[in-house]
Amino acid sequence: MYKMKKTKYLIIGNSAGGIGAAEAIRELDNKGAIIIVSDEPYPAYSRPLIADYLSSHRPLEKMLFRPAGFYEDNDIDTVFGDKVTGIDFAGYTATLADGKTLQWQKLLLATGGVPIVPNVEGLELKGVFSFITLDDAKAIDDFITDYRMPVKAVIIGGGLIGISASEALVRRGVRVTIVEMKDRVLNTILDEEASSIEAEAVTNAGVDIITGHTVSRVNGSRLDEVKSTVLDDGRTLDCQMVVIAIGVRPRLELVIESDIKKNLGIIVDRHMATSQPDAYACGDVAEVYEYIYRENRLIPIWPNAYLGGRVAGCNMAGGSAEYPGGTAMNSVKYFGVDTVSAGMVVPPDVGYEVFKTRHDDIYKKVVLKDGLIVGMIFSGDIEKSGIVYNLMRDRVNVSGFKEALVSDDFGLVSLPEEIWRSRLAVTTPSETCSSGVQL
Ligand SMILES: Cc1cc2nc3c(=O)[nH]c(=O)nc-3n(C[C@H](O)[C@H](O)[C@H](O)COP(=O)(O)OP(=O)(O)OC[C@H]3O[C@@H](n4cnc5c(N)ncnc54)[C@H](O)[C@@H]3O)c2cc1C
Repeated sequence: MYKMKKTKYLIIGNSAGGIGAAEAIRELDNKGAIIIVSDEPYPAYSRPLIADYLSSHRPLEKMLFRPAGFYEDNDIDTVFGDKVTGIDFAGYTATLADGKTLQWQKLLLATGGVPIVPNVEGLELKGVFSFITLDDAKAIDDFITDYRMPVKAVIIGGGLIGISASEALVRRGVRVTIVEMKDRVLNTILDEEASSIEAEAVTNAGVDIITGHTVSRVNGSRLDEVKSTVLDDGRTLDCQMVVIAIGVRPRLELVIESDIKKNLGIIVDRHMATSQPDAYACGDVAEVYEYIYRENRLIPIWPNAYLGGRVAGCNMAGGSAEYPGGTAMNSVKYFGVDTVSAGMVVPPDVGYEVFKTRHDDIYKKVVLKDGLIVGMIFSGDIEKSGIVYNLMRDRVNVSGFKEALVSDDFGLVSLPEEIWRSRLAVTTPSETCSSGVQL
């Protein structure tokens, strides 16, 4: 038992960002003490796979982001199932919920996000869930299993988390209704056409979608169990469970009182450094440079958290790495529809070129500005989406072959020779830490 422990590196958050940082640190510094704290009791797991846990009880060992021996092999001290409750940036200390203190030299905030909870009466009832963590998935699983009778669920929100939860629940025999406030599902990552393809697949699986409305109240029984939801137009939907899935916001509780620079998330520079000395941030909690909009933004996707973590870790360990800029890129398969979407998918009317093709349920769209790809959607056939995404990421001028990007037979050979040759030559990421750590 200790009251105060010293560590060279303190990482708060044991997920994509935290692991990325720990790995980069160890590549530069194999001795400096690392402590990772997480209030989740598990080794790092792939968060997107909680849907597989819920639908088919995928075991934790098959969800792990790194092999079971990762922490021991890398000499990383872990504090799992405990929470950091306070940070003293000037004093270089952090306090844990159990009263212990950790003294750090370099700090990483990789605290991720928390579910956005709407201001709706009745969310404290038994049968109301979020869908962000493995424990959320376990709680829903227990609920369905205990209920025995067929369950009806209302999912508040038709975004990525809502659709993912719906698919898992349908596989468990739950009757699902999605209530989406905007006029279509997946509206932040798809345009109208791609949304309608996804919506058709969702409804074909037996899910009801109600758009343009929201839940204004959840009614409970005398046992404080969910009985129904009431929509803003007065309609009542009978259900036994509700999943809140209207998105996540950065988990800022540790810095809310501090004067660390923050907007929606913690603002970091290209080194992932915050405005506080020796304190870094990455992942869903941080606002990083977004290269399409050319400003700091939240980019809440797994690869961005991992890359940000690696950049932070490299800099924390005395190297010099720069975050190259990112954009929201999602590659998902919900209800059987393969979809890749990235960047600005619905551009303003003026100043952009849009190329699209549609054959049955195969839809491709590329958005260009000044010869550069700034947005893309591939739905139904995503085979060549990787080439287009890389052209977008690497800011390659595609003016000479823009129409080909969405054609059926598009491939590397559709590109001018000097471009496809240079593409093939790119075998490793161009960004490296000064000390040779591959990002
Ligand atoms: C259902 C679902 C599906 C998703 N699907 C995809 C997908 O298909 N593709 C994709 O790219 N992204 C997907 N995402 C998003 C992706 O999971 C996140 O972008 C990624 O997990 C962010 O990683 P992170 O390290 O920033 O934080 P997180 O993964 O949120 O982890 C942060 C960790 O820090 C812990 N923590 C926070 N505060 C404290 C504290 N004070 N003390 C101790 N511990 C603390 C948290 O409990 C958590 O364990 C999905 C997310 C969800 C919820």
